[in-house]
Amino acid sequence: MFKRVKGTQDFLDLSLFNFIVEQMKQHLQLYHFHEIATPIIEPTELFKRSLGLQTEIVKKEMFLIDVGKGEESICLRPEATAPIVRAFVENGIQTTPWKVFTYGPMFRYERPQKGRYRQFHQITIEAIGVHSIGYDAQIIKMLDCLFHEILTLNNYALQLNFLGCIKDREAYLHKLYTFLEKHADTLCNLCLERKEKNIMRVFDCKNSKCQEIFTKAPKLIDNLCDTCAQEWQQLRDDLDLLAVSYLITPTLVRGLDYYNKTVFEFISHNLGAQKEFCGGGRYDQLVREVGGKEDQPSVGAGIGIERLMLLLEPIKNTLPLPELPALHVIIPMSEKQQLLALLVSNELHIHKLCTDVLLDGDSLKGMLRKANKMGAAYCLILGEEEQRKHEVTIKNMMTGEEKRIPQSEAATYLMR
Ligand SMILES: [Zn+2]
Ligand SMILES: [Zn+2]
Repeated sequence: MFKRVKGTQDFLDLSLFNFIVEQMKQHLQLYHFHEIATPIIEPTELFKRSLGLQTEIVKKEMFLIDVGKGEESICLRPEATAPIVRAFVENGIQTTPWKVFTYGPMFRYERPQKGRYRQFHQITIEAIGVHSIGYDAQIIKMLDCLFHEILTLNNYALQLNFLGCIKDREAYLHKLYTFLEKHADTLCNLCLERKEKNIMRVFDCKNSKCQEIFTKAPKLIDNLCDTCAQEWQQLRDDLDLLAVSYLITPTLVRGLDYYNKTVFEFISHNLGAQKEFCGGGRYDQLVREVGGKEDQPSVGAGIGIERLMLLLEPIKNTLPLPELPALHVIIPMSEKQQLLALLVSNELHIHKLCTDVLLDGDSLKGMLRKANKMGAAYCLILGEEEQRKHEVTIKNMMTGEEKRIPQSEAATYLMR
């Protein structure tokens, strides 16, 4: 027997999944984002360039595809921001802001753990060519509204941080480095390694001794230039006025090289260790990094559908999931009525009535039991007598009530 690849899953009931995607699409269209699709495979170099060589994703989690010698290395996309930016540059998009979203599977080759998959699904939202920090506030408000109003989630928080511009970050990293040097004897090995290679990631350390030290570490938000300090103030003012509550989280960096200024994460403690279900921020240099002629300040976010499903599963019954249409099951009593069953079924399909036929034969009792398991609202029984008289027996599966009517009236009768 074959088994699923580790860290993947079969979705046998997509009702909640599709509901989430559908609600998100409608909500995003309301804010004038339009849907695009990019390939699942991309050049590996795209992510090395955009995410940074030292990020965990590029170091350990890339799903590489073995293409023959001489061909450029390709991979399954680990995220969709870089592909969207590539599409923006490659297709020579001239009209900005370019406000788009895409939905689909992403891949990480990592050790699977609770709530983390090797294939997972995300909605990625990007606004490319947006200078004002007001756009950041609007996207955050849009997401908060989606989670709270549309998906009726309550148990979550929004973490917010501001990383400043490149200059602020450089100056700050020096300060942070000096601070970490001073505490080198107490820090764990991982933190010491990150101090040299990917210093902002030290804050992700789970070690409580390290975290204790970090409470005294210098904060980026206290080391911003005048312009950035003003934008940081504006972002908070905007969010206050838009009635979005947030927690200022100075250690939040999101672990990817391309972010600057705004970074945010929506988290829920109901998710366990991997508590983030949506994250994003501003990236002002990525367009040029990926080959654009000039910088296009941009802001975006990704929403993890599997994580949202974990949060929504317990309140599924309170959500307005689309109802399945009533099922009609046609039961020919013997082989002689099979053709007639197909004709009656065809008639019902023409009238857009959800209809199935049982053609493999059985006793009437057996077939009624089967129809019941299928969730039939009505059964249409065709026996010899019905066939002779051009009639059909319609059985209401809820009440058990039976009624014999002319075959030609069946669709009209069922549509009442
Ligand atoms: Zn700055
Ligand atoms: Zn540590």
